[in-house]
Amino acid sequence: MNDCIFCKIINGEIPSNKVYEDELVYAFYDIAPAAPVHILIIPKEHFSGMNEASPAHQALLGHILLTAQKLAKDLGFAEDGYRIINNCGENAGQTVFHLHFHLLAGDQFDRLV
Ligand code: 5GP
Ligand code: ZN
Repeated sequence: MNDCIFCKIINGEIPSNKVYEDELVYAFYDIAPAAPVHILIIPKEHFSGMNEASPAHQALLGHILLTAQKLAKDLGFAEDGYRIINNCGENAGQTVFHLHFHLLAGDQFDRLV
């Protein structure tokens, strides 16, 4: 039995505000937005985070980044700019252990690096 909340979002057991879906990825609005636009992009395949990614996921990881770019263009904030974040593990504050990338836009963000 899979208790992963993001797997449940993908299969519709938990409702979500979907932005985009294809055969590899699912994108939806974060329930607790940290920016005017806060989208989560997740692979349909469950793995818990970047530490579990392997060379077999190379194309999938590239597809996630290009999906972020596509959404930025389609939703009209590509030119103004956006931030893509992946939190991996305890020190980064990861709370959901199904790989996900945050896509943040609509504001000017403080620099982290
Ligand atoms: P993390 O902290 O692991 O990088 O990010 C997890 C994100 O998932 C958080 O920003 C949190 O608000 C979001 N989240 C957690 N549960 C749900 C949910 O049930 N629905 C949606 N749409 N977002 C969720
Ligand atoms: Zn999952």
